[in-house]
Amino acid sequence: MSSAFNLGKLFGIQLRLHYTWFIIFIFITVSLSWLHFPSLYPDWAPVTYWVIGIVTSLLFFASVVAHELAHSLVARTNGIPIKSITLFIFGGVAQMTREATRPGAEFKMAAAGPACSLTIGGLFFLFWLFTPGIAEPIAVMVYWLFYINVALAIFNLIPGFPLDGGRVFRSILWKLTGDYQRSTRIATQVGQGVGYLFILGGILIAFLHPFGLDWFSGLWIAFIGWFLQNAASASYRQAQWRETLHRFTASQVMTSDCPVVPSNVTVGQLVQEYIFASGRRFFLVADEGKLEGILTLHNIKSVSQQNWDVTQVKEIMTPLNKLKVAHPDQDALSILEQMDENDINQMPVVSEDRVIGLIARDNLIRFLRIRSELGI
Ligand SMILES: [Zn+2]
Repeated sequence: MSSAFNLGKLFGIQLRLHYTWFIIFIFITVSLSWLHFPSLYPDWAPVTYWVIGIVTSLLFFASVVAHELAHSLVARTNGIPIKSITLFIFGGVAQMTREATRPGAEFKMAAAGPACSLTIGGLFFLFWLFTPGIAEPIAVMVYWLFYINVALAIFNLIPGFPLDGGRVFRSILWKLTGDYQRSTRIATQVGQGVGYLFILGGILIAFLHPFGLDWFSGLWIAFIGWFLQNAASASYRQAQWRETLHRFTASQVMTSDCPVVPSNVTVGQLVQEYIFASGRRFFLVADEGKLEGILTLHNIKSVSQQNWDVTQVKEIMTPLNKLKVAHPDQDALSILEQMDENDINQMPVVSEDRVIGLIARDNLIRFLRIRSELGI
């Protein structure tokens, strides 16, 4: 997710705020401080509404971070690195670099979030129960946090993928059938169904106002439904891509027409004779077929232009020992996962020290798109 600010690291995981988070933060704070608290507790001082509203809202988002952190830490103990946790308009999301490889691990990872929210809700409830003498605004805040954390856990347990409940559901299907792909298809289809139900329910609420709910709640529920439906169909497509990539090897998806330059060419020559001529941004550096490293425009920018004619490619390339390479019979899915984990966009395919091709992220996407256009 782009357009997000880095807030620092928690347990080695980058915490990020997407700009849409400010919308939901302001919305929750304002509806607590301006509508909810004043209508229920008219005697508080005006400043109390806002202080309690802001603190409640911040504690709520801290609870959301704890929920995502629970997923992330369980994922990490199961060997799945987590890059970042991002807070955005619909809550939080932990970015996993790959999916679980066993149903048991997926079950634990998915259940950890709602379990954490229930625990936090329970702690707020106990605090509310055993401190009867505290000031009313604090008691109200604590009670609201109990309620919202339990609601968060229940909402996330709805069995539509990609909600946590959908992941739990998939892990159970997966365990029972042993068929990961089919389980994913079923769970994402249920997820799409849940999305449509939310949209329909939201529209009905907006027009009929049952249980004292207003048109705004209806609109918001429909909006969440739209988001869930989109996320579920994206997960469905992604599951199909993964299935396809898993069936192919590096040598089947690589391109062999990758530009190769010798390591003793100067940067000036490279720019004039190769980059301007071909428009390429990525080169393999190889001497007599033996891969020495790779070079991108990024490497070139590290040299100032007056030194271009005295600097050789081998001085600025990313050398072989720092490079991730693929083997010809490695499956394409694991290559994509390695790219995600290492934040790289291309990997040379190497067989017995010789470069035989290149896999770039774009190749994989093109490969998938052409297959889907051909209907295969
Ligand atoms: Zn969750």
